[in-house]
Amino acid sequence: MNAVIKATGLQKSYGGNRVVDGLDLAIHKGECFGLLGPNGAGKTTTLRMLLGLIAPDAGKAMLLDLPVPQAAREARIRVGVVPQMDNLDPDFTVAENLLVYGRYFGMHDSEIEARIPDLLEFASLTSKRDAKVPTLSGGMKRRLTLARALVNDPDVIFLDEPTTGLDPQARHLIWQRLRELTSQGKTLLLTTHFMDEAERLCHRLAVMDNGKLISQGSPRELIESNIEPQVVEVFGETSGQWANEHAAKFAQRFEVSGESVFCYVQDAQALVAHLHAQSELRYLHRPANLEDVFLKLTGREMRE
Ligand code: ADP
Repeated sequence: MNAVIKATGLQKSYGGNRVVDGLDLAIHKGECFGLLGPNGAGKTTTLRMLLGLIAPDAGKAMLLDLPVPQAAREARIRVGVVPQMDNLDPDFTVAENLLVYGRYFGMHDSEIEARIPDLLEFASLTSKRDAKVPTLSGGMKRRLTLARALVNDPDVIFLDEPTTGLDPQARHLIWQRLRELTSQGKTLLLTTHFMDEAERLCHRLAVMDNGKLISQGSPRELIESNIEPQVVEVFGETSGQWANEHAAKFAQRFEVSGESVFCYVQDAQALVAHLHAQSELRYLHRPANLEDVFLKLTGREMRE
């Protein structure tokens, strides 16, 4: 299968720091691919190289079968971008923002105007067509940015943290729209800090840290290959003491974080029975999820 986005041995340094360090990636048509990693991992730099906005120090990037940055201009005609920060024009209305953006692609006004009703419908902004940008809510601005990224009917869409700062309702609407795009055969590459978003939306994911990909696969594969299947979270003032005395008897692996103890187990039955009898502790038994994988691979310490 031909990759729509391909990176081979990509490298980039800033001030002697290698922020992307030999990255290989192949993303296929119709895939929603998620790039995860703590702040400073090199995600945005990777996206910028794959878009051909900056040149790698070494390695090769191909976007829609074209080498970038050499043929970036040609490739980007078929690409949409949702940047991390909304950069809509505040002086223009919703419809004017779409019009002006379409002109950057060399589209005629009549061609853009013909697309605007569908784009507004897709973004649930039909009634806001003539509203000025500062009057829109955060969720509406995000949806307008997404609609704007679709003005040229792109085959590939890059999204840098598409739902950061949105409330749950607004996030769900964006997720629904992103699923519609992949079902139309469009290819999505997104970064996110929300593990539930990555788990729901992405067909495949890569976890990045210190400029390198440290694990790659479907959400289920990442969970199965990196972590025990069950998690029991133990809470309470005495949880640390409990962990010292008992956790190793029950858990294959455990981590103490403040007043919480995360116990990773193959089978939680014995641990749950034991905890049931500890009146001063509370616990939550759940299946392992992507956040557990992420924290195992990249650690619990704060970054940047
Ligand atoms: P992420 O998107 O994963 O948070 P970035 O790709 O933005 O990571 O940044 C990776 C590292 O590269 C960070 O340490 C950041 O400070 C540094 N960096 C990114 N862009 C530049 C730049 N233009 N000049 C200097 N350092 C940069």
